[in-house]
Amino acid sequence: LRNCRICKKEAIVYINYANISLCSEHFIEFYERKIFKILKQLDLRNKCILVALSGGKDSVALLFALYKLQAIFNYKLKVLHIDLGIGDYSKRSLEVSAKLTEKLNIPLIVFDLKKEFGWSIHDAVKIIRKPACSICGLVKRWVMNKVAIENECDYVATGHNIDDVNTFVLKAMLTYRPEDIIRLPRPILKPNLEVKLAGRIRPQFYATERENLLYTLVNGLDTVSIECPLARDAKSKKYRQIWEEIDKVNPVGKINFVNTIIKIIDKLDTGEMSDIKLCKICGYPTYSRDICTFCSMRMRIDSKLKNEES
Ligand code: SF4
Ligand code: ZN
Ligand code: ZN
Repeated sequence: LRNCRICKKEAIVYINYANISLCSEHFIEFYERKIFKILKQLDLRNKCILVALSGGKDSVALLFALYKLQAIFNYKLKVLHIDLGIGDYSKRSLEVSAKLTEKLNIPLIVFDLKKEFGWSIHDAVKIIRKPACSICGLVKRWVMNKVAIENECDYVATGHNIDDVNTFVLKAMLTYRPEDIIRLPRPILKPNLEVKLAGRIRPQFYATERENLLYTLVNGLDTVSIECPLARDAKSKKYRQIWEEIDKVNPVGKINFVNTIIKIIDKLDTGEMSDIKLCKICGYPTYSRDICTFCSMRMRIDSKLKNEES
C-alpha cells in the first residue's frame, strides 16, 4: 500500500482497476461518487426511494450512502426489511436493520412473511422443489414491488454489486441460460405505475463486494455476519473464484464484461416488456400469463399446508 493519491496520507485501500491507493476519507468520496453517477441519470427530486435493507454489507452500505446523498438529490427515503423467517439469521438481520434505521431516523417497514402469508422461506423450501435462493428471490421481488406501490414509492433500491452481476452472467453463459442474460439486472429500470410496477435502482452496480464491505467498516456500521443457512449455491462460489483469477490478469475485466453484455442486449428487441398484464389474483404485473409466478407458487404452498392440517 502506498500513500493516498489525493492527500498523501496513509492509504487504506488499493483499487486495482483504477490503479489508485486511497485513505479512508478519499475512499468514501470515491465510493459515493460511484453511487452519485448512477443516481444522476434520474430526476429524483421529491421522488420516494424504498431501500430494501437485509442487514448485510451491501444493503447497509447502500442505505448509508443514499442517506448521505439525500441532500444533493432531494429524494425521500423509506426502508423495507423483509423478515424471511430463516431462524437466527433472520433475527439478527432484523436487529441490524432496526438499529441502523433508528440511528438514521428513517421509518422502517417490516414485512414479516409468516405473519402476512402464514409461511416463511424456511417453510416454503420444504414444499417447493427449487433452489432456496430462487424461491426467496421470487418472494422478495414481489414483496418489494407491492410495498413500494402501497407506500407511494417510485423506486426500489437494492444492494447488488458487480461481483454478483458478473457471477450471474458467467453462470448463465456456462450453463446455457440465454434467457437469464436477456433479463440481466440493470442499474436502472424506470417505473411503470400504470401496471403497478415500481422502478428499480441498483446504485452499487459498479461497486465491488470488497468496496461495499470497506464502506461499512470505515463508517463504523454494523452488519449481519452470519451467513444465511439456506445459501447452498456452491457453484456460484466457484464461479466467483474464476473471477478472482480474471481479476489478476485484467482488473478492468469485470466492468468491461458486464458493459459488453449490456451493450449487446440493448441491441436486441426481446419484446418482453410489451406483453405485460396484471395478475388475476394479486393485481400486480405479470408477463404473458394470467397468474403471476409468485401467486402460482403461493397457491401451491397454501394448498399443501391446508392438506397437512386436515
Ligand atoms: Fe434468501 Fe438465498 Fe439470500 Fe438466504 S441466501 S436470504 S435463501 S436469497
Ligand atoms: Zn486521502
Ligand atoms: Zn399475482
